[in-house]
Amino acid sequence: MSAAPSAPRTTDPYPAGFLQALTALLGSDRVRVVTDAGLDPGVHPLNLGAHCVALPANALEAAQVLQLCSQMQVGVVPQGGRTGLAGGAVTHAHELIVSLARMQQIEAVAADARTAIVGAGVTLEALDAALRPLSLSAGIDLGARGSATLGGMVATNAGGIDAFRFGTMRERVLGLEVALPTGEVINHLTRVRKNNAGLPLMQLFVGSEGTLGLITRVALQLVDAPRERHTALVLVADIAAGIAVLRAVEGVQSLRLAAAELMSGNHMQVTARALQIQGLEQTPLNGFGVLLAVEAAGAESAALVALQLAEALTVAAEAGVLRDALLPKNASEERDLWRIREDWSVDRLFPGGLWYDVSVPLDAIDGYLTALQARITRHDASLAVYVVGHLADGNLHVTVNAATPVTDRYEAIAPLVYDGLQALGGSFSAEHGIGLEKRAGLEHWAGDTSLRLMRSIKAVFDPQSVMNPGKVLR
Ligand SMILES: Cc1cc2nc3c(=O)[nH]c(=O)nc-3n(C[C@H](O)[C@H](O)[C@H](O)COP(=O)(O)OP(=O)(O)OC[C@H]3O[C@@H](n4cnc5c(N)ncnc54)[C@H](O)[C@@H]3O)c2cc1C
Repeated sequence: MSAAPSAPRTTDPYPAGFLQALTALLGSDRVRVVTDAGLDPGVHPLNLGAHCVALPANALEAAQVLQLCSQMQVGVVPQGGRTGLAGGAVTHAHELIVSLARMQQIEAVAADARTAIVGAGVTLEALDAALRPLSLSAGIDLGARGSATLGGMVATNAGGIDAFRFGTMRERVLGLEVALPTGEVINHLTRVRKNNAGLPLMQLFVGSEGTLGLITRVALQLVDAPRERHTALVLVADIAAGIAVLRAVEGVQSLRLAAAELMSGNHMQVTARALQIQGLEQTPLNGFGVLLAVEAAGAESAALVALQLAEALTVAAEAGVLRDALLPKNASEERDLWRIREDWSVDRLFPGGLWYDVSVPLDAIDGYLTALQARITRHDASLAVYVVGHLADGNLHVTVNAATPVTDRYEAIAPLVYDGLQALGGSFSAEHGIGLEKRAGLEHWAGDTSLRLMRSIKAVFDPQSVMNPGKVLR
């Protein structure tokens, strides 16, 4: 997905006068270019195929930069934390990267109103750190929290661990400020949930992956942070049993189900072995055996939350839905559980695997996984399927790999993963967006009318078609 910068060059790939005009707008310290000496120091080498990075400090500057790009026909790629997994932030030599790195202010946190206004370049981790002393949370969490930015998360409509309770970014966003390629700024930084003032233009930017405009500020709805949390590792025979376990936890009045992260048995084995986490390398489950990291939260003491979680799991075991459970004895064991869920050992051990991100209604996951495994085995018995995901909202991350890289087989294997999803009421694209990777899928599944409408909307916001060219819509 990342592209290393091309060899140092003596001529820049932009229209004559572009870099000078950009520098006149922002000043030379906020225009970083690839020079004959290589990359300008301080520019991160990921996804930097483009030969120039612009660092506007506010919406007005950003709008001027986008307008210049429109006038001079230079493609613009917005970049936040570059953690996106669908290739949405990939760039080419002749494009301009617009970085949000200068918009990292947490401008206002209104604890009583449970709202915050933040610059689009603020990372989720930085926002969480600011909210923690107030016992508040953004109501969204994901593994890339240290780098992913709020702007990027809005642009991809990120989901993650909390989405089953608090929704995806679409539900977290109350308002946005956006710079447009026409040179205009839309300031809809409303801080209210109920807001019916004509067509919901702001919602069009949620999940637009940088193809309509540049999100510069975000107004968020906050939630109360749970005071105490405790995680257990649960082994179940299938997804239906796993969901019964979640319902048992939800059945305890003083507990709140905080996370239900799914791992296939083979993911657990490979990752526990790679991370050398003793005692977890061997699980009784293989293939599509299901392990769940079940996290419960409560307002009581940590010990009481742990006790109540253990009681809920005992009830599930007595009902015959739970095969086994492991309750960490200390914080370090609990961290190990989360490391196993969030670590990418499988991808490191089998580089060149294929990643898919699908959503399946909860009551259809068992059937989908069984049929998926059968389709893959029929296609090529040497392929292995690994699954992790966010069980409570049916979001599965499916990796298909083999002893040797299978990268060039994406188009052949994708239909095997996507087959039947639409009929089940699921989605071929859950939380990572379309980017470059899933454009064929969108063309296949969206239907002609929807595609025509999407292209028309794009033309309204971005008449010169400079915003993230080639992403989402070809
Ligand atoms: C370890 C790991 C775990 C992850 N877990 C999850 C998960 O649980 N759930 C989930 O949903 N995702 C997850 N992701 C994916 C990724 O973190 C999200 O897609 C995140 O929202 C991307 O934010 P970013 O700032 O890195 O955006 P980038 O990668 O920089 O950009 C992503 C897209 O948004 C556009 N964009 C970025 N900023 C703006 C802006 N200000 N205005 C307009 N467009 C913009 C870009 O052009 C690009 O198309 C994970 C990634 C990693 C590496």
